[in-house]
Amino acid sequence: MESVWQKRVTISPREMLTKNIHTKAIVIGAGMAGILTAYLLQEQGVETVVLESGRIAGGQTCNTTAKITSQHHSIYAYLTEQFGRRKAGMYAHANQKAIEDYARVIEKEKIDCQFQRCPAYLYAREEGQIEELKNEAKAAQLLGIPAEFTMETELPFAITGAVRFEEQAKFQPLKFIQRIAENLTIYENSKVVRIEDNCVFTQHGIVEGEHVVFAVHYPWQVVPGYYFLRMHQERSYVIALDISEWEKIDGMYLGIGTGGYSLRTFAEEGKQILLLGGASHRTGENGSGGRYELLRQKGREWFPESREIAHWSAQDCMPMDRIPYIGYFSSEIPNWYVATGFGKWGMTSSMAAASIIRDMIVGKEHPDEKVFAPQRFPVAALSKNFTENAIQAVKGLSKQAVSMEEFPQKCPHMGCKLEKNADENTWECPCHGSCFTEQGEQISGPAQQGFDACEK
Ligand SMILES: Cc1cc2nc3c(=O)[nH]c(=O)nc-3n(C[C@H](O)[C@H](O)[C@H](O)COP(=O)(O)OP(=O)(O)OC[C@H]3O[C@@H](n4cnc5c(N)ncnc54)[C@H](O)[C@@H]3O)c2cc1C
Repeated sequence: MESVWQKRVTISPREMLTKNIHTKAIVIGAGMAGILTAYLLQEQGVETVVLESGRIAGGQTCNTTAKITSQHHSIYAYLTEQFGRRKAGMYAHANQKAIEDYARVIEKEKIDCQFQRCPAYLYAREEGQIEELKNEAKAAQLLGIPAEFTMETELPFAITGAVRFEEQAKFQPLKFIQRIAENLTIYENSKVVRIEDNCVFTQHGIVEGEHVVFAVHYPWQVVPGYYFLRMHQERSYVIALDISEWEKIDGMYLGIGTGGYSLRTFAEEGKQILLLGGASHRTGENGSGGRYELLRQKGREWFPESREIAHWSAQDCMPMDRIPYIGYFSSEIPNWYVATGFGKWGMTSSMAAASIIRDMIVGKEHPDEKVFAPQRFPVAALSKNFTENAIQAVKGLSKQAVSMEEFPQKCPHMGCKLEKNADENTWECPCHGSCFTEQGEQISGPAQQGFDACEK
């Protein structure tokens, strides 16, 4: 189902790669991370080619809610406690700087993408959550973020408190990408199938280059990197409601805890449209569905008689220690880079990734790169998630082995048993989150191919 952004913007198609070419940097993937990386590299005069298996921004990026914020749940108290003030400060700085970098690019390119400064709020509805919010406000302030605990919001329901971050932003992501992609060399429908030495192979052409950036959302390689063991995917649902009759809501909101709802608005032809998101679950742990209905119930409760204009879902990679993997893909391969594990905060994370990888390629030290380095391994913080991911992987694989009759569809990535998503009528892998149409066509990775839905 199309997002509100897709309904309004059509990015002109690009040709498929059908020849062999040479360049300095190759970016695989034309989502927000890939496009921004190519843009920042090109700004520095680094010749760059982007290879995209589908359409520009046709992956998860077209389904984002596009809040540009450093407020990533209650992350700053957690980071300070787990990794210390210095590393927490790098995370805060990289994400705050990303907001300013968006403003800079939008100003420079004169992009009309409804970029609007606004506050971001993390709100609580239970007394027991107030302490967490107060700690988060304090931790964020100590790291230099303009944050405060408040009871004031524009929400139509009662809260017990909120953390407010000033000077955050929201925009129309596809209008932004449409413009910055204009002067980039991008080949669409050019899936990368193999990489050997400095050569990146698509089905009909080869690009030779010095640097290869994996901005593919979820790297498909099992080795090196072992990303399949370091993160899982989580799906969330969004409905767009016309709430023009209601008071204006400028801020962006997210409820604390796993069941928290996300709210942000945008203006269109004199109307106020609300994006209401939530009902998240680990991809592939689908139950009996009913996620859109849950959001609709909330919509009816909070904005009675509002009108639904669109609904869709998306998923993102959740890293084990809540910090994205940005930097060298593996210590074994010096010219491969990766940007993944954005934990549903891929707008600022993509910008942070693009600037870190740009600096690595041009040979400059980035002040915040260390906290995102994929080679980090804080054992204590990771062990619980690592075990959970490994259990899911083994569960999926063993179910597959137990009964081929009972569990007919298996994932082409690593053979896990696929689960039906009743809300989307798709197949999902509970181990690593690959997603397929009912007929078995691949929608998103890490799987790089579909399966034969008739074959058992
Ligand atoms: C419901 C929801 C709401 C969200 N809202 C927000 C928000 O408000 N703010 C925020 O900061 N973040 C948000 N996020 C997260 C954000 O949308 C994502 O993190 C971000 O869009 C990911 O961008 P990406 O470039 O990494 O991935 P993608 O957009 O998926 O791009 C990866 C690209 O790589 C391509 N690719 C894959 N394999 C190959 C190959 N072999 N060869 C060539 N190309 C390949 C794919 O086709 C795809 O186009 C949200 C996430 C969800 C699930």
